Amino acid sequence: MPSSSAKSHGRISIEASRKARALITDRPDIAGAWKARVLTLYPEMFPGVLGHSLTGKALQEGLWGLEAIDMRMFARGKHRNVDDTPAGGGAGMVLRADVVGRAIDFADKGLSRAVWPVIYLSPRGRPFDQATARRLAAARGVTLLCGRFEGVDERVLEARQVEEVSLGDFVLTGGEIAAQALIDATVRLLPGVLGNAQSTEEESFSGGLLEHPQYTRPAEWEGREIPEILTSGHHGNVQKWRQAQSEALTQARRPDLWEKYLKERKDKG
Ligand code: SAH
Repeated sequence: MPSSSAKSHGRISIEASRKARALITDRPDIAGAWKARVLTLYPEMFPGVLGHSLTGKALQEGLWGLEAIDMRMFARGKHRNVDDTPAGGGAGMVLRADVVGRAIDFADKGLSRAVWPVIYLSPRGRPFDQATARRLAAARGVTLLCGRFEGVDERVLEARQVEEVSLGDFVLTGGEIAAQALIDATVRLLPGVLGNAQSTEEESFSGGLLEHPQYTRPAEWEGREIPEILTSGHHGNVQKWRQAQSEALTQARRPDLWEKYLKERKDKG
């Protein structure tokens, strides 16, 4: 069980001890670093995959920060309920507006939503994309609300000007995986997180196209060779080949992106 202990103590002391437990700070606190505050019923799910590889290394180096905040800290009353049955009937449970509202207010440090967006991960949201990752990376940080069960009481989303962002047209059991995906895509855009800064300039979506195919050693594998042009050492030809491959792939796989790309190219003249 994640955080249902300490039920029989006074509220203040519970909140204090939970607060200490809830904040993941396995990193030096470098002032001004981009930060994700995650509101969740399962803080132990963090940093999760973000604690590994490039994002994990960057977290330890203090290039970004993470606070997983246990929303149960903000439940009150005898039973400390965080959820209740849906008004109007139906299956499942809904996260309570008062609990979620207190959690958002706790995470809020008075910055405007433009500088510090508050996002509810939700299948009803605007689809997450690279442009959104860039916008978030340019902010000071982000507060992410992870739903569970049937979701969150609508009133708190309205009252706290919460933006809704979706990972795609499918339904997860909770917002935590979606939050980690969003954080991963954002953090890798922060300066210093990827070794080679160029790699975010040339990858998929950066120029509105999907990335060209990649190859590495061995030069021949199961009778398949690396396209000759890539081993020619002629940088200009390599660039042209990659651009043509990107265009052909985008046209074939993502007609929606291809249309947009053509339109933007035309608008630029
Ligand atoms: N009843 C809701 C789904 C709830 S799923 C509906 O039909 O819209 C439980 C939680 O998982 C949601 O509150 C949300 O935080 C998260 N979630 C589910 N699918 C998601 C998706 N595609 N993108 C982002 N978050 C999602």
